[in-house]
Amino acid sequence: MVDTLEAYLRNGELFLKAGGIEEVTPEVIKEKYLLPVEAMTLHQIPVDSESDAVAVLRAFGFELSGKTKEILPGLTKGRKGTCSICGRKGEVVPNRAFIFPFERKIDSVVGESNRLSLCPEHAFGLYSGMAYLYLVPLGEQKLKFFFDAPERILKRVQNRFREFWKDHFFPSARKSGEKTHYSISVSLTLSRTHPNEAFFAIIHEFVKFLKNRRLLEEAVEEERLVRAHLVGGSGQFYEHRVIEGTTLQMLMAFLSRLQESGNEVQWGRRHLDRWDSAVVLFYENLEVPRGRDRAKNTLEREEFIKKLLEGKFDFVLLNQIFMERLRRKLPLPGYYSTWAVLYLEAFGGGYVDAETFRQVNGLGYALGRRMKGSNLERYLWELFRARGFEEFLNRLVELQAKVGESIDLRAIYENRREWKVVKAILLNGMLNALYGGGKE
Ligand SMILES: [Zn+2]
Repeated sequence: MVDTLEAYLRNGELFLKAGGIEEVTPEVIKEKYLLPVEAMTLHQIPVDSESDAVAVLRAFGFELSGKTKEILPGLTKGRKGTCSICGRKGEVVPNRAFIFPFERKIDSVVGESNRLSLCPEHAFGLYSGMAYLYLVPLGEQKLKFFFDAPERILKRVQNRFREFWKDHFFPSARKSGEKTHYSISVSLTLSRTHPNEAFFAIIHEFVKFLKNRRLLEEAVEEERLVRAHLVGGSGQFYEHRVIEGTTLQMLMAFLSRLQESGNEVQWGRRHLDRWDSAVVLFYENLEVPRGRDRAKNTLEREEFIKKLLEGKFDFVLLNQIFMERLRRKLPLPGYYSTWAVLYLEAFGGGYVDAETFRQVNGLGYALGRRMKGSNLERYLWELFRARGFEEFLNRLVELQAKVGESIDLRAIYENRREWKVVKAILLNGMLNALYGGGKE
């Protein structure tokens, strides 16, 4: 929490510095307080008055109380107290949703009695953090995120990211009578209904942008020092997470190579560009349709992407998705093994490395090919349901006898401790041989 507070403040201070604001006085606040709101819209819509600003904040999902009509008094009208950040005694204001919006969201331990009080300098510093706060609306939910880095790098990161983001982020203002209505839309190649999916969709787009401008190498190098703070959710259900720079760096390297693996292709009615196809044809086929509510259909995908952003390629979850899709007679995601190999190579081993994946996947693929056209496909389900390593192995040996050829099971034995992962990889390989689109 302290960490998030400091990171948010760093953004606000950077914004004030960039605008040549060195000293924060009540007069300065009065004169400049609309600027961070305008910056948050990437200067794409005018914010001319306090009531405009309040309406924009609501459109951006700031949880202002229904009564809030003003911002200025909340920043300037204080009482005697001690600033929670610098410890100075003097005039302080209590924190509000438009100053530091995450106080109650990410740390429910903060009680009414120990809420943040802020001196004018820190209140305005935090308030200005919104200038570099980014938003993706997701139906009921929202993803908000911001970056943190040492000052010199943070400035460059913001410049780069904002140049990219203004081509994808579209706030709009519509006057009706005295009132102005604000709304926000975001345009990205990948669909998204959940916060982690949205962040992944953005990074995919951002990597393409950087490559087009020959900035990727420089950016990936700097990302090592950048952390991304993500806050997602709706109502009482909020999730806050920090993605470390080293993870961002590997993620961008992974996506870049993945993009290079694709070809321009027609997918149904949709034309996919070269850099999109390998990403899209896997990602968009991870849905498990359950009904009209798209957010429910993508629960597994959101979970898979969340793990991906944590540095883990979850084969077991993926196997569940594949089996669910098989049950519904839906195509398997394309580029599966490309995703797996490139991810494991970018992020290094962990519980299973790229080499083990290749071996076990190859084994599964070979078995699957021999099963094709036979009535042995029920073994897929028997293997899938195997509850322990012994049962899994027994079924596998049975299957081996049925296809009439012995296979090298060493990779399975060697990874006995991770047998659930190995089982998932093996099954995925078999599934791809049997039902894959031949994309590999
Ligand atoms: Zn202070």
